[in-house]
Amino acid sequence: MIIDNGKMNFFDWLKSLFTNGDTGESSYWIYARCRRCGEVIKTRLDLKNDLSERDEGGYVVYKTLMGNQRCFERLEVTLTFDEKRVLLDRTISRGEFITAEEYQTCQVLET
Ligand SMILES: [Zn+2]
Repeated sequence: MIIDNGKMNFFDWLKSLFTNGDTGESSYWIYARCRRCGEVIKTRLDLKNDLSERDEGGYVVYKTLMGNQRCFERLEVTLTFDEKRVLLDRTISRGEFITAEEYQTCQVLET
């Protein structure tokens, strides 16, 4: 049996493509519930690209979440981070923040 080293390298290279991709390290997930219809919404934040620097230091992100089922309410989310991109504060209008667990539970109930 001949071991094809070229092929091994090719697969290693393929694997590296995936592992070097979205590892989740720079991802921050926002889970929220619409106050009007109760729909749960999640959205991904890229901590590397979505953050805007603030004059007073740190970063800020503005996101508008919109459900796609029952209503067209827009949830305005504001997140502030420190220089190390650690979440400091978050506010939401027309909705409330929920945890990932709550989100999962709601998904199960709806299907
Ligand atoms: Zn809604």
